Amino acid sequence: VKCIGILTSGGDAPGMNAAIRAVTRTAIYNGLSVKGIYRGYKGLVTGEIKEFKSQNVSNIIQLGGTILKTARCKEFTTPEGRQIAYENMKKEGIDALVIIGGDGSLTGARIFAQEFDVPCIGLPGTIDNDLYGTDTTIGYDTALNTILDAVDKIRDTATSHERLFFVEVMGRDAGFLALNGAIASGAEAAIIPEFSTEVDQLEEFIKNGFRKSKNSSIVLVAESELTGGAMHYAERVKNEYPQYDVRVTILGHLQRGGSPTAHDRILASRLGAAAIDAIMEGQRNVMIGIEHDEVVYVPFTKAIKNDKPIKKELVNVLRELSI
Ligand code: ATP
Repeated sequence: VKCIGILTSGGDAPGMNAAIRAVTRTAIYNGLSVKGIYRGYKGLVTGEIKEFKSQNVSNIIQLGGTILKTARCKEFTTPEGRQIAYENMKKEGIDALVIIGGDGSLTGARIFAQEFDVPCIGLPGTIDNDLYGTDTTIGYDTALNTILDAVDKIRDTATSHERLFFVEVMGRDAGFLALNGAIASGAEAAIIPEFSTEVDQLEEFIKNGFRKSKNSSIVLVAESELTGGAMHYAERVKNEYPQYDVRVTILGHLQRGGSPTAHDRILASRLGAAAIDAIMEGQRNVMIGIEHDEVVYVPFTKAIKNDKPIKKELVNVLRELSI
């Protein structure tokens, strides 16, 4: 392997730039050349590719978003599109790829690597933390801290008006942001998809004495078809418990922005460096993760299974601390 292509794909996440920087500089340090591929797989299909030197990644470790841009690419989901991508890659002299993205992006990488025998290394880049085989994903910690800032502010107004707030956070079908966001912000409850089918979480929360001694309450709700979202719960409470003054805040895309936290910068730097080490060791078709502070290689098929478990202990902690 002489030349590495790097791209960011799917939803953006703070820390992607730190990962781009780490991959680029580690590759150059080891005598490899690097090409930046713009707009995810789209750039591979359209040939939007540029050589990266060390200075191309100067001054970006602190920036949110991704300097390579990101996009969803329909063509890449077809064999014809991937054939064009492969031809462009060869034309540019790229012989291995580092893909930073979520489960969709890693699924694309897995299929591409199999079809064309191209070494592909994935880095977990998503605020949702829903990739198996890594304790956290790039962007998750920053998003969690953004949620805390927002909820702290909402609490001021919730308390003054003695209101019940349902705050909807991202996470797709994973409840990590909602549950840990709730613990860290001192919220009364979290409604998360992992348990939404097991119990009526709202009933449980109200039965457990919600608001007996409190003049305001905050409930974090994970966005997901499985929970139905914050609006759904607000409507229910308005109908079933008209005594409560209910409001909804949907945090939305502000959760995806901002300067990455120290945790995300270090995680992205370690993962980016490990991606190049992995390629030089002859690894292929793995996602790099960090588990128990050690770098691990996780086969794509395992990483994207999408059933990363959420600790029941965290649910109990939240319940016990919200009395
Ligand atoms: P996030 O978790 O933040 O949404 P993601 O990586 O899961 O990020 P997706 O939109 O699911 O985001 O996927 C990004 C891109 O990966 C798609 O636009 C497509 O180009 C490629 N991709 C996804 N699934 C496949 C697939 N089954 N085959 C080929 N390519 C795919």
